[in-house]
Order: sequence, then structure tokens, then C-alpha cells
Amino acid sequence: MQIRTRLLASFVAIALLVLTVFGIVAYRIAEDAAARQETLTLQRALENIAGYLAPYLQDKPYRFDPNFSLRLPYLQQATLVVVHTANGTLVNLPEIQRTDFPDRDKLLATLANDPLPRSGNMDIDSTRYNWASVFIPTTNLRLTVVHPAIAAEFAIIKTLGMRLLVTGVVVIWIAIWGALIITALLTKHLRNQNARLIHQSLHDELTDLPNRTLLYDRVEQALHRAHRDGHPLTLFLMDLDRFKEVNDTLGHHFGDYVLQQVGKRISAALRETDTVARLGGDEFAVLIPDADADDARNCADKLLAALDIAIPVNGMSISIKTSIGIALYPLHGNDAETLLQHADVAMYQAKRNNLGYSLYAQDQDPHSVRRLTLIGELRDAISKNQLVLHYQPKVHLRQQRTVGVEALVRWQHPTLGLIQPDEFVPLTEQNGLISSLTDWVLQESIQQCCEWRSRGINLRIAVNLSAHSLHNMALPDHIAARLHAAGMPACHLDIELTESAMMSDLANAMEILERLSSMGVRLAIDDFGTGMSSLSYLKRLPVNELKIDKSFVIDMAEDENNAVIVRSIIDLSHNIGREVVAEGVQDRDALQLLEMLGCDMAQGYFISRPLNATELEHWLQTSPWGLRSHNPRPEIVSIKKPN
Ligand code: C2E
Ligand code: MG
Ligand code: MG
Repeated sequence: MQIRTRLLASFVAIALLVLTVFGIVAYRIAEDAAARQETLTLQRALENIAGYLAPYLQDKPYRFDPNFSLRLPYLQQATLVVVHTANGTLVNLPEIQRTDFPDRDKLLATLANDPLPRSGNMDIDSTRYNWASVFIPTTNLRLTVVHPAIAAEFAIIKTLGMRLLVTGVVVIWIAIWGALIITALLTKHLRNQNARLIHQSLHDELTDLPNRTLLYDRVEQALHRAHRDGHPLTLFLMDLDRFKEVNDTLGHHFGDYVLQQVGKRISAALRETDTVARLGGDEFAVLIPDADADDARNCADKLLAALDIAIPVNGMSISIKTSIGIALYPLHGNDAETLLQHADVAMYQAKRNNLGYSLYAQDQDPHSVRRLTLIGELRDAISKNQLVLHYQPKVHLRQQRTVGVEALVRWQHPTLGLIQPDEFVPLTEQNGLISSLTDWVLQESIQQCCEWRSRGINLRIAVNLSAHSLHNMALPDHIAARLHAAGMPACHLDIELTESAMMSDLANAMEILERLSSMGVRLAIDDFGTGMSSLSYLKRLPVNELKIDKSFVIDMAEDENNAVIVRSIIDLSHNIGREVVAEGVQDRDALQLLEMLGCDMAQGYFISRPLNATELEHWLQTSPWGLRSHNPRPEIVSIKKPN
């Protein structure tokens, strides 16, 4: 608007200036032309009149016809008509001359100095006069007519003024309209250009989705509203898994196409009030106002389902897996920066554990002070003997007794108390301490198992290995050496490896597992059902048991879907000749259902939480599931078997 007004004002000012200069020049030209024209006309008229007067001026006293009058209309307007001698002496002719002319004497004096009769103009007392003077034939007299230039020019000036005024108004009118039109066009053009530039600076070029800057802005605004209204807010950070492979295999052109399709699918799966942004590379973010943890999970499920459908590219179908990190306001942060950072941490957590999506948890945050402290102290934890093993019983459902225990490591921190393995085991993996940890756990477990066996407590012991252990091809020999040194038969040792660990490096896993199996070590796939392992590999792996992940077992008595999954895993295990263990048995209903479904073994809080060695020995003696079943188990009540 400001530009428009300024432009208009400048245009009008220039138009007025041009018009003024034009008017002055035109006035001057017109004035000169009019004066010249008038004096010439006067002179010609006077020559006629002089001829007419001549006969009356031959003899003195001059006598005019009583009806004589100067009828020339032009001369009637003249201010002064005089007949005079060449030296300026006035001849008394009252019939034709006016005597009341104000400056007559001055004028006559001026004319007297001009010996030749002619026409011209002169300025007396800042008044311009036009005059004409002729000889009266056959006399030595002259006839002179003088009148102020203004009287004659007034009409011309008036006409000229009118014309100039009209021209000026028209020019200004045209100028204003011209200026308005030009300004409007210019403003529209500038506005479009401006809007385009703003759009470009706030959007991603490839997908046309908001970029990081716009996302930050929207998050800050949404945070203000959420704070004012007391509502929650959810922020997703999404990263495509193995997108680099798509780029490397198909080229950047198709990679870009895949990113565009992903952007469209994310937007289509959400509401218009949600903001989908591309932060760069294969990283997207989603802002969902008014969404709490449950809404966030629903949205994440929706997004994963939308992205799970293969994208057709160049005659192929490209499957894209995505990991979503979720941060919630106010739970995980009060500003855009913190929320994004925490969503990022959660996203890596989801990616690392193949979870699909994950909510931010402070204890997994690599940037949290606690985590940094733990990393610094981990090495000492092992050397200073701060690690302890707890043992969770594994009971055989048909035999109704405990057949083994799973060794689960904990860190007895001097100031922070007992720290759970989910928090520090991943840190040992990142800091190259995992083999020391595994070695310690193996050593401690084998020693404890031998010690129990020496006292008649005949239990198998299960040790968890991490994915990193599968890179160590010397591991089987190392385990063999440990068993040999302790004098423990390999069949008393179980090794648990997660599905995803095995699948991450199948060739190595296969070789290590083959060697362990041939030594007589029992092998189990841990957290089965979460890693999407291929059934064909499953059959080839030399594992003895599948451990159904606790997420399916915990609520299987209430959740029909989970009950169906558990039943399918049990059937599958039996069909391929493997034993099956259900972990996460938390209540009687789940246990009864598992017994009914023919599950071989169970593990869970309902039976016993992980206990230290002394507590476990006490539990074994008092529990109905103990080694010697002194205490009768409660009867199984009828429960519906899932279809
Ligand atoms: P995991 O091997 O699947 O161990 C089972 C986990 O489920 C244990 O958690 C156990 O306490 C928990 N659990 C057992 N019954 C129930 C139940 O009824 N309800 C619920 N909600 N949870 C139950 P924990 O001890 O915190 O261990 C977590 C994970 O840490 C283990 O999962 C294992 O992957 C890892 N871990 C533990 N010890 C070691 C170790 O020595 N080495 C390695 N590499 N990983 C270990
Ligand atoms: Mg385990
Ligand atoms: Mg498990």
C-alpha cells in the first residue's frame, strides 16, 4: 500500500510539474504572438482611418462631419486615439480623441521620441501597451492608437487558461488513472513475487511441504495455544529406514520420487490442521495439535499403515519402512527445540529396536545428564564389581516345576541405586564395553549355576547375548573355555538372542549358533514376534526354543488378537519342532490360557520377579513352582480358548 501511494504521489507531482512548464512556455508564446498580431492589425486599420481622416485635416480649423464617428469596433475599444504632430504636439480633435487616458502625456512623450510611424509595444509603470502609429496622408500629422496589452490579450489568456485547465485536468485524470493502473499491476506483480519468495523460503522444494523454519514457527504457535488452553500437543520425527539403499540402487531421481510419495501419504493420512514438514534428507516431522499419548499412538499406527504399502517406482514396488519418534507437550518439553530433540532421540530408539514408533523416554536419551554420567562410569562398574545378576525362574507348565532361570544383569550404582539393563546395556554396546559385560555375565552365571548344582539345585541358566556378540567369531570358543574351566556341561547353559540381533547379521549368526549348538548349548530366540523374521530362516536356525515376546503375553487374556498371535506362535514352534516359552506372564488368566494352548514354559511376574541368588533359593523352596512341588498349585478354572 505504501509503495502504491508513493508511486501515485510521484506520478502526480511529475505530471503537475510538466504541466506547469508546458503552461508557462505556451503562455509566453501565445502572449508574443498575440501582441504581434494585434499591433499589425492596429496598424493596418489605422492606415485606413488615416486615409479617411486626411480630407478633414487639410485646412484649419479642422471640421468634421457632425455625423463623423470612428465606427471600427476594434478602435472603439482602443483606450487612446490621438492625432499629433511628428514632434508629439497634440492636435485638438475632441470628436475622435479621448482625453481621460491616464498616462497619455507619458505615452505621447515616448512616441515623440520615435520619429518613424510604426507599431510596437512598450512598458510604462509595469503596464504593457500596444501601439500603432501612421502618417495621415497629405498632412504632416500622425494618427496613433494606444491601448493596454492586457485588454486585448485577456481574451486570449482566458481561452488559453481554460484550455490549459481542461488539458491539465484531463492530463491529471489520465495520469491518476494511469498511475493507479500501473501501481495496481506493479503491486500485484510485487505481491505475487513476494508471496513466491516467502513460500520458497518456508517450504521444501522437492515435496512442497513446510520446511524446518516453518515447522518451528508452527510448533511455537501451537505451543502458545496449547499452553493457553491447557491442551497437549504431539510432535513426530520420522525417518525412512534404509532410504540410502533406494537412492544408491535406483538413483537420486527415483529417490526424490519416493520422498514425494512419502510426503503425500503422510499428509493424506492426517488431518488438515496437522502440519507435515520435511526437515531434509529422508527426515519428516509432523505436528499434531491437541493430541495426547493415546492420540499420538493412533496417529503413528495410521502413518505406519499408510507407509507400509509399497510404492510403485519404475515398474518395481519399493517397500519403505519408517521409524517414528514421538515427543509430547508438556510431558517431554515446553519448546520446539526440546520437543524436536526428544522426538529425535525417540526416533533412534524406534529405529534401533525396530519398533515402528517410540515415545520419548528420558533414560534412553543420549543427551540426558544421567545418561552421560552412566557412560562415564560404566567401565568402573564392571571393574569395581558393581554389576549383579538377578534370576527369573522359567517354569515347565506340564511338569509344573522350575527348570531353569534367566540371568538378568543389574547395575548396583553407589549413588543412583539399582539400574535396569534396558538403560545401561545399550550404553555398553555403544561404548565397546559389551564384550566385557557379556564375559562378566557368562562367568558369573556359569559359576552360580555350578554352585547351585553342587548343592543339588539343578537348574539350567539362560544368558542374554546382544547383537554385537555375533560379530565376535571367537565367542563359541570363549564360552567353551569358560564351561570347561568351570566343569559345567554345555547343556546346562541356554543362550538367548533376539530375533532382530540374529537377522541383522544372519551369516555370522548362523555360524556362531551352529557352533554353539554343536557344543550342546541350548539356543533361544528372545522377544519372538517383534522382529519379523522370515519363516524360512527360522526353520534353518539351530535354535531349540522360541520365547514369545511379553508384549503379546501380558494382556492375552483380555486381548483377543494377542491371544491369537500367542496361539499361532505356539503352534508354529511345535510344527517346526521347537519348544516355546511365554515371557511376561503377569496374571493367573494368562497362565491358564497358556497351559490350555499347550505352551511349554512360562516366565513372568505372576510366577516370580527376577530375584537375587539368595531370594531365588528361598523362592524355590516355598513356591508351588519350586524344584520340589511341596505346595499344591491352585486349580485351573475354565477359560475360553481363543479361536
Ligand atoms: P529379556 O531378555 O527379554 O528379559 C525379560 C525382561 O522382561 C526382563 O527385564 C524381565 O524382568 C522382564 N519381565 C519378566 N517378566 C515380566 C512380566 O511379567 N512383566 C513385565 N512387564 N516384564 C517382565 P529386564 O531384567 O529389565 O531386562 C530387560 C532386557 O535387558 C532383557 O530382556 C534383555 O534383553 C536385556 N538384558 C538383561 N540382562 C542382560 C545381559 O546380561 N546381557 C544382555 N546383552 N542383555 C541383557
Ligand atoms: Mg532374555
Ligand atoms: Mg524377552
